[in-house]
Amino acid sequence: MTTIKRDINKLKEEALAAGAEQFAAIDRTAQANTAKVLRVMQKHRVSAAHFNVSCGYAYDDLGRDTLDKVFADVLGAEKALVRTQFVSGTHAIAAALFGILRPGDEVVSVTGKPYDTLQTVLGYDHPALGSLKEFGVNYDEVPLSDGKPDLANIKNAVGAKTKLVMVQRSRGYSTRAALTCADIVDVCAAVKSANPDCAVFVDNCYGEFTEEVEPLAAGADIIAGSLIKNPGGGIAPTGGYVAGRADLTDLAAARLTCPGLGGELGASLCDNRLLYQGLFVAPHVVAGALKGAVFAAELFSRLNFETFPKPQEKRGDIIQALGLKTPERLIKFCRAVQEMSPVDSFAAPEPWDMPGYADKIIMAAGTFVQGASIELSADAPLRPPYNVYLQGGLTFEHTVIALTHAAEVLMADTAD
Ligand SMILES: *Cc1c(COP(=O)(O)O)cnc(C)c1O
Repeated sequence: MTTIKRDINKLKEEALAAGAEQFAAIDRTAQANTAKVLRVMQKHRVSAAHFNVSCGYAYDDLGRDTLDKVFADVLGAEKALVRTQFVSGTHAIAAALFGILRPGDEVVSVTGKPYDTLQTVLGYDHPALGSLKEFGVNYDEVPLSDGKPDLANIKNAVGAKTKLVMVQRSRGYSTRAALTCADIVDVCAAVKSANPDCAVFVDNCYGEFTEEVEPLAAGADIIAGSLIKNPGGGIAPTGGYVAGRADLTDLAAARLTCPGLGGELGASLCDNRLLYQGLFVAPHVVAGALKGAVFAAELFSRLNFETFPKPQEKRGDIIQALGLKTPERLIKFCRAVQEMSPVDSFAAPEPWDMPGYADKIIMAAGTFVQGASIELSADAPLRPPYNVYLQGGLTFEHTVIALTHAAEVLMADTAD
């Protein structure tokens, strides 16, 4: 074990040195995004008056309404709906889809098979109660071609009945690259050339602040995401957001509450300070998570595991997948990450059936906020090729410590 420790320590130092250039580039992005958030908060004169809880109908809740405006400006939207009443990212996405789509409409996913939990929302291949399919919304999809959007086939698939196109920015549980905003520019152009009235929706989960621009600047009409991922900065206790064109955001609001009430009701159930402060630190926290991902790729490629993306590849999300090849290693890796967590370090993760997921999932999440994947977390569906998906990290230092430990555990095994 001591030789393994020494070897891994050497590889850790090498990995940190090899990542230096990327770390610097990531810091520049964080600098630009912090400047943007700061300017927007100053413009809206954020003050202690916005940091409160409210109750009842919460008409004219100043903290809530100003937070909507701050998010809208930061994300480049006409309007945003930021709510702790969204129970998760999936809920925010579903509110946008159900709000915009009507029976007889068609929705086309142009980045292949959508993220696991969205499959039940769509009624993808197993019937789910209350799915879009049950409401008579038709679904079609254009697979990726070599991991990239297939622009020619997107133009063919989008027709007069296509009300909305879905784009997933992040890799999700797959090894394809995340889309960059430059990729999204091309997708939007292809969609609009086929049907100028078709709205482009981007599932922005894990993408926020990884670049200096967000998908709305790339031509998307509406985006949604989770507050216990990137834009909550690890401080938001729950929630999600929808942002984009005002008419479309209003439709999502009519679905979250009801027609007529929209975004004008909804108490601030947690101290709004947590949401403002979370957004303020989010660019920095995302930068730490990105550096952790680069470090993971550098370290585990030195141990001869395949990594997605490769260490030096450009990133459009905070996820780092590692090809561990066997279920045993998958479980060991997740347990090692859990052991090095600040919370529940004594718990041993087991694969289990999670709501919305087709395969058993193993999840290491020793997090302060339950399931928050902007905190260091590792999870994997128990299915070949047994890739683990690693993301988050409130501090880069913690990620380095935890991954070095995971590498030691996996290598000790090989030595047996
Ligand atoms: C996390 C995620 C979602 C939403 O998941 P929740 O767990 O419901 O917040 C949707 N799409 C992608 C790509 C995601 O990563």
